[in-house]
Amino acid sequence: MQKEVSKIYKTLVAEGEVSLAVLDTTALVKETARRHGLSPVSMAALGRTMTATAYLCSWLKGEESSLYVTVSGDGAGGKISVSGDGALHLRGNIAVPDLVLPPRADGKLDVGGCVGRKGTLTVVRDDGEGIPFVGTSELLTGEIAEDFSAYFLTSEQRPTAIALGVLVSREGECLGAGGVFLQPMPAASEEAIAFAEQKITNFSNLSSLIAEKGAEGILKEYFGVESAEAREISFRCRCSREKAASAVLSMGREDAEKLLEEAGEIAVHCHDCNTDYLFGAEDIAALFGKKDTKKDTK
Ligand SMILES: [Zn+2]
Repeated sequence: MQKEVSKIYKTLVAEGEVSLAVLDTTALVKETARRHGLSPVSMAALGRTMTATAYLCSWLKGEESSLYVTVSGDGAGGKISVSGDGALHLRGNIAVPDLVLPPRADGKLDVGGCVGRKGTLTVVRDDGEGIPFVGTSELLTGEIAEDFSAYFLTSEQRPTAIALGVLVSREGECLGAGGVFLQPMPAASEEAIAFAEQKITNFSNLSSLIAEKGAEGILKEYFGVESAEAREISFRCRCSREKAASAVLSMGREDAEKLLEEAGEIAVHCHDCNTDYLFGAEDIAALFGKKDTKKDTK
């Protein structure tokens, strides 16, 4: 049921007192997994973080506004970095993309073991209006959803009920990924807050629900919502060959030529999308111009 395009659906529920968002990020997680060659548990950890980041991005004011999320825990998977913008273009990586861990006692992927239970979640939000906002909170469980709930409560003073999930097949393919966010409006009634807390308990198996019903099915079945504002979410990196070339230029001619001699070519790697930009002898010569012109390449 999940779509080829990832989407976020937003609407108000509980008589306008609770903001509801349902995300189907299956396509986004699939693309991320393809680029990084993610193992199931690394895919679940990074996929959940990307889904939560997409939700945060949906609140950005302009398309040019940007957001950087890092989850630094003491787990075996290492640091997770995700960035996105107001256009809902996201990219991200995890330090150990091919981590293998035994499943938890209940058979689920051990995301907490991958992320770690000690550490921090940091959000840097740049609205392009001067100093970026930086919020940090301590990790609670390393399962990501609870950690983002803690972040919203402590750093943004917004209690937020969150469910996140990534379903991976035996063959290591993403079958469904998404999130449900219930955020009571400021000054919401006790009933509205209780509504959010109660509703979220329906989604302990969210990834299977996404795979079966899609985001639209969840909206209809659990919230009676027939239509909601929808926006597309996509994997898009900000790297380019031009940016890679300027990184080579910044090395200076001497170091670049030395490296070229040693390695045969210069590779500039983008961690976010796992792309190598390669520069051979001809490329280097073209970049720095003719040798006898004595160009200042500082
Ligand atoms: Zn890239």
